Amino acid sequence: MHGKQKPNYDASRIEAARQSEWERRGDYEAPCPAQGQARVYVKPSSPFTSGNLHMGHVRDYSIGDAYARFRRARGDAVLLGFGFDAFGLPAELAAIERQEPPADWVAECGERMLGQMKRLGFSFDYDRVFYSSDESQYRWSQWLFLTLLEAGLIYSEDATVDWCDTCQTTLASIQVEDGRCWRCHNEVRLIRRPTWFLRITPYLEENDRNTERLQNWDELSLNTQRYILGRSDGVEVELDGGSGPGLTVFSPHRGALGGASFVLLSPRHPQVEDWAVEPAVREALEQMRSGGWERSARDAGSVPVVDTGESITGPTGAELPVLVSPLVDARYGPTAAFGIPAVDEADAELAARVERVPAWEAPEEPDAEEPDAEEDGGEARAPVAGEREAKRYRANDFSISRQRSWGTPIPVVHCEACGAVPVPLEDLPVVLPRDIAPTGEGNPLAERPDFVDVACPRCGKPAKRETDTLDCHFDALWLWVPAAVPPADRAEEMFTHPDLQEWLPAERLVAGGDSGGFVFDQRIVTKALRDVGPFAFLAEGEPFAGCLFHEMVIADGRKMSKHLGNVVNPDELVEQYGADTVRLAVLYAAGPAKTLNWSDGALRFANRFLRGLWTYSHDRFAALEGAPHDPEAAAETEFMRDRLRKWCENGLARITEDTEQLQMHKAVRNVTRLFDRIQDFEKRVVKRRGQLDRADAEAQVAALALLAQSLAPFAPHVAEELLIASGRAEAAGLPAPWPDSAAIPVSTEPSAASTQAPTT
Ligand SMILES: [Zn+2]
Ligand SMILES: [Zn+2]
Repeated sequence: MHGKQKPNYDASRIEAARQSEWERRGDYEAPCPAQGQARVYVKPSSPFTSGNLHMGHVRDYSIGDAYARFRRARGDAVLLGFGFDAFGLPAELAAIERQEPPADWVAECGERMLGQMKRLGFSFDYDRVFYSSDESQYRWSQWLFLTLLEAGLIYSEDATVDWCDTCQTTLASIQVEDGRCWRCHNEVRLIRRPTWFLRITPYLEENDRNTERLQNWDELSLNTQRYILGRSDGVEVELDGGSGPGLTVFSPHRGALGGASFVLLSPRHPQVEDWAVEPAVREALEQMRSGGWERSARDAGSVPVVDTGESITGPTGAELPVLVSPLVDARYGPTAAFGIPAVDEADAELAARVERVPAWEAPEEPDAEEPDAEEDGGEARAPVAGEREAKRYRANDFSISRQRSWGTPIPVVHCEACGAVPVPLEDLPVVLPRDIAPTGEGNPLAERPDFVDVACPRCGKPAKRETDTLDCHFDALWLWVPAAVPPADRAEEMFTHPDLQEWLPAERLVAGGDSGGFVFDQRIVTKALRDVGPFAFLAEGEPFAGCLFHEMVIADGRKMSKHLGNVVNPDELVEQYGADTVRLAVLYAAGPAKTLNWSDGALRFANRFLRGLWTYSHDRFAALEGAPHDPEAAAETEFMRDRLRKWCENGLARITEDTEQLQMHKAVRNVTRLFDRIQDFEKRVVKRRGQLDRADAEAQVAALALLAQSLAPFAPHVAEELLIASGRAEAAGLPAPWPDSAAIPVSTEPSAASTQAPTT
């Protein structure tokens, strides 16, 4: 019996009932994959414990959850894993503002955010949730540090690093946007201090090669990988320095080296000190390094440039002035490049600013108006002697240490006699004091004798712990691993756990379009761990078999911010409309590659659709029993039922394909269209015969049940409730499998067992 009384669409009642049922059934638990079952690890982004879920998270998890539910319904073993990127500046700064220990702040945020996720019905395996700031987690960040140190992929160097005066910390290049701090947006400057680096250069070529072969990566995510790599193809030649040192100099302008009029060195070029000989030049160089130049400056008209006063013999015998400018870094990485004003606009602009470089005047030829055109310098091109194929990558090793207290302690002890000594693996973890209360200035860890004073692991004499901590970017290098390891085993075994071979590589990463840097470095570290041993089973060294990047959610055409007062609070929307409406609206409003400009329009559309579907379905379910049956009348509409089944077949095929490709906006649109078709079927039957025969009504209810099943990845609560109301949940089994359009009965006899041939 499906009840004579039509229940109202009460989202909060429906959602609470379904969620407790899912929990009881254990739907979210990652299963032990059966023989032959596809293993699908879906990895959404790991958020900072920043306070609340924002709409960007809702977008990310709505896509990932829909995909996970879809793959489960298709019979695959699915792990939808989740963890917090809980160390680092965002949490520390929030804790400073609230004058509480970061550990407390992180715990509060995590709890609140998990509550929001559960309320939205995201099917994470919540038993596997982790925080990168937990001791059982960061001990493995320390393990990773020591392992990469041993492999020569981490090194310490007195280096020029970006420094933010406001945040009082060094920054990774990826944290500097247009010469400004990613966090506080103040200008950064360069300073020199001892710094730990992650060496990524040995794997750049492999990342490059693999990028062109990756399947199931969307264009947006691939483009970020190419952009971060920053590859330039061209040529290089060895220049003889005469009595001084020589230089290998690069240019992307094949065959145009004869026109070189200067050589440009990066301030990070390993030989730059050899060329900055004069005291005045050294001073200028130092000033340039600490002067806060915009590191990504491409504007050759204002980027700092230092003339070393030295020259080197160029490929055609001319003496070329040697200049130093960060313009090289922004274009080709820390290298040396030819300045060829005739073919390169930036070079021409730079040349005009340096007295010693001969002025270059564009010849009066029509095609010389664009001197940066790669293929045409106005003159016939010829290679110079010794010119050979070369490429440069802009991506470079990056610093991983920070002078902050809310981070993974670096497992190194500084001993006067032994130098920097790695902490032995059996002594891990180096525990971070939980009661530390940073103020925002300096590094409170350095002021804790209970942390700093320690015996040297090598000689036993009094020594000092490293007080820099690891940047959370370092923790993030492996944040895709822990969810695949059962929580009970994590303390003992992480990178070598046998389950990793079941779940890795992750079938799909779903992340924001700004995650390219994280993903790039995760791909590097996977290759390192493959070569070191534990990830030998990942032959390609790729952590993600597929990747979907989505753009952000904005409002009123602008980024959401408290300052602008345009922040959309997901809690309020869920409260008012229910989780299903919010999820459906976020998915429907825009394709992943597009920025989602939030408006209530999508929300109203989604809510109207769900309410309409709810009422319509319940009416049809209730009317089924009373529908009259007349075989002759039923035969007359058989072709219509046949058409309905075809509509379902086609609609389902489209929804399936869209969801497989994570194009959820299209899938949702096709769900709504299928609903239109089902209503259309009824209208046509009624127009022809005045009412539905029992056979028609059964076909229609079957179609509505199919529709509910195909809606389940996107609006799972209402979908399951409707399937139950249709009376078909028991036959389907819950959680329901992905539907089959053959379930729509076409024959004249309403009962499924009917074999009667249709009459004419
Ligand atoms: Zn800052
Ligand atoms: Zn020692």
